[in-house]
This record gives sequence, C-alpha cells and structure tokens, in this order.
Amino acid sequence: MKAAQPRARRVATVVSVVVALSLAVAGQAAAAEEPIFGLSIAIARDDKGERVVDDAWVERQIDDANGFFAPLGTRFRWTIEKPLAEPHGELHTRADRNALTPLTETNAIDVFVVRALEDVDEPGRYRMGVCWTGRGGKRFIVVARTARPTVLAHELGHFFGNRQHSEVVNNLMSYSRDGGTVFLDARQSETIQRSTRSFLETGRLLDVGPPRRLR
Ligand SMILES: [Zn+2]
Repeated sequence: MKAAQPRARRVATVVSVVVALSLAVAGQAAAAEEPIFGLSIAIARDDKGERVVDDAWVERQIDDANGFFAPLGTRFRWTIEKPLAEPHGELHTRADRNALTPLTETNAIDVFVVRALEDVDEPGRYRMGVCWTGRGGKRFIVVARTARPTVLAHELGHFFGNRQHSEVVNNLMSYSRDGGTVFLDARQSETIQRSTRSFLETGRLLDVGPPRRLR
C-alpha cells in the first residue's frame, strides 16, 4: 500500500489543479462553492513530553485527505493545534472516547492524535483511526500515531456521511489494499458532496477560507 501512495496523490493533485483552473475561469461565485473546513488537531505527548507525531506527519495526512476531497469541492486546512493532555493519550474504552467530547471545538472538525486506540468491540485489537459519535451526538475523529497515510481521509469519509465500509479492494472506505490507486466511488462522492452542503447550511462547519499565512 505504501508504495502506491505517491502515485495516488499525484493523480489527485492533477485533478484538483484542473478543478482549481475551472473555478478560476468560472469566477468568484464558483470559488464560494468550494469550502475549506478547519481541522482542530489535538496531539498527545509521549513519556518525554514530546508530541507523538510531528507537523510533517499531520500535513501528510491532510494532503492525502485533500487529494480525495478537493476534486469533490471540499478541502481541509489545519487551523487549530493544541496539546492532548493525559489521561486522553491512550483510548481503550467507550468511556475513554466519550471523555473527548468536552474537548471538541465548535464549527471545526476535531482530530485527536493518540498513542494507542484500542477497539471497543474487540479488546486487544488496536486501530489506526475511528470516527466516533460522542454523547450529545458530537462527532469527532481519532487517529493513532501508527496510522498510515489515507487513514485521516478514510475517517473523514465516515465523517462526511459514508457510514459503511466497502468490500472493494482499494476503495478508500475499505480495509483492503493491493498497491493500486485508492479511490472513492460515485455514490460515496455524492454522499460527501451532500454532507458538505448540509454542514454549511446547518452551520455545523464553517468555511474558513484560504490561509492569510501558512497556519
Ligand atoms: Zn472505517
């Protein structure tokens, strides 16, 4: 899977450049239809007090996500960074996950990067990511430090309405990879576009626009 990532990303970048050029021709009205949503990234610390992942790791996950979402008219930008204090650095139970709800932001997509994420249905099995619905219906994403590229993109696929996993090899919402290009199918893409409109209409997410400066 790793070997195929750079190729998949280049393809996605070419597509997004084409989309960007089309929008430039169509003018500002079209640009307003391509929202940028803010990501709040809370990063756990290791036993030396260092962040468990660095900026490059986070940017890589976001770049991968944009590779899948930008062609659909949705992009992400890292707008908030904060430490994830103990005892939230390792999540083992449903209660551990639910305890993150009070730490979430308003109008942004929360991503918690943790040292370990145990499956709540199969104790002893560790996951690379999850899109979780906390108490009160607040949804957020957890990504483990062990996550491969495209894990954040996969969890955002859930966040944007694709609740089911796919059985199709190399589908972004599948667990199966054979080194080929990872993709979303037409139905999944429509779900993401519908969710994007819904998030904007309800004010659940705000369009934060392009950066005035890099993060
Ligand atoms: Zn999943």
